Amino acid sequence: MRVLVAGGAGFIGSHYVRTLVSGGYPAFAGARVTVLDRLTYAGNLANLAPAAGRFDFVRGDVCDAGLLARVVPGHDVVVNFAAESHVDRSIADAAGFVRTNVEGVQALMQACLDAGVRRVVQVSTDEVYGSIEEGAWDEGAPLAPRSPYAASKAGGDLICRAYAITHGLPVSITRCANNYGPYQHVEKVVPRFVTNLAEGRGLPVYGDGGHVREWVHVADHCAAVQLVAELGEPGEVYHVGGTAELTTLDLARRLLALFGADENLIEHVADRKGHDRRYRLDDSRLRALGYAPEVGLEEGLAATVRWYLDNPSWWKPVTQRS
Ligand code: NAD
Repeated sequence: MRVLVAGGAGFIGSHYVRTLVSGGYPAFAGARVTVLDRLTYAGNLANLAPAAGRFDFVRGDVCDAGLLARVVPGHDVVVNFAAESHVDRSIADAAGFVRTNVEGVQALMQACLDAGVRRVVQVSTDEVYGSIEEGAWDEGAPLAPRSPYAASKAGGDLICRAYAITHGLPVSITRCANNYGPYQHVEKVVPRFVTNLAEGRGLPVYGDGGHVREWVHVADHCAAVQLVAELGEPGEVYHVGGTAELTTLDLARRLLALFGADENLIEHVADRKGHDRRYRLDDSRLRALGYAPEVGLEEGLAATVRWYLDNPSWWKPVTQRS
């Protein structure tokens, strides 16, 4: 079996690759793995160092149809993690988001169709639904994105849906809640807070800090993506819910407690434009396939803090690059 992982040098994709090449997904044991990644500011080959020598690497762009026509044929499974992924950057400049998250998805789906790939998974996000005050979204909820990032991911999802319906491309979509874990770029909130605390700096909290997110450890997200690759129905969407719902202030307080630091390190800063108040997924469809997140938030956050404290050589250069 040959598996192509697009965006495999990023936070989540690299976790998937490290687990895959270590035999962590028994159904794909012994698979030959190709990572295709453009290595943007968010891609980092150091994320794949523990898997070195156990995958083929192609530096390239998912928007490059010519490259895809050479790389994709021969692969049985394609999993797409490649994306521009940071909401704040999409507010500053959305063009790259539309390019990679919409045009790149179209180019990749076309290449998969042309090559007769038998299983495709598009990795997406709960943010495509907008914001929900109460209750939870199921997979039939209307797409109502509110940030350029979310809109571009929704566009990519609709392209996948169209390729599934029009061409019968065997693509399934996963939509996951907020991830945390090792190797996450320091621009995202958990590593931002952890590395600031490690350096004795304050925690910038947007607005009143009452924005609610569901948190999933990256290992559970990747296990869910793998489950969908193995058992998901072509053309279907699968939600990947978390193990805890927290406000930003709750998150800040938990991390302060892990460092034994004082709450006066919390600094309220101007709110993000169009900031979604709350996300919440109903993931019963995936749970019916056997999904059950295994990493509790308390244990997962403590291990994540430990990882950043043990690996300043990974995040200090990343801080300087961004
Ligand atoms: P990331 O920014 O850490 O990694 C993205 C990777 O894609 C990087 O390695 C980057 O170099 C690569 N890439 C970007 N543009 C590319 C292009 N044009 N061609 C090839 N490679 C390109 O992102 P992440 O947090 O690992 O997210 C992975 C996926 O999961 C994304 O699709 C994201 O929307 C989705 N997701 C993320 C979260 C989260 O909390 N981080 C939650 C739900 C869904």
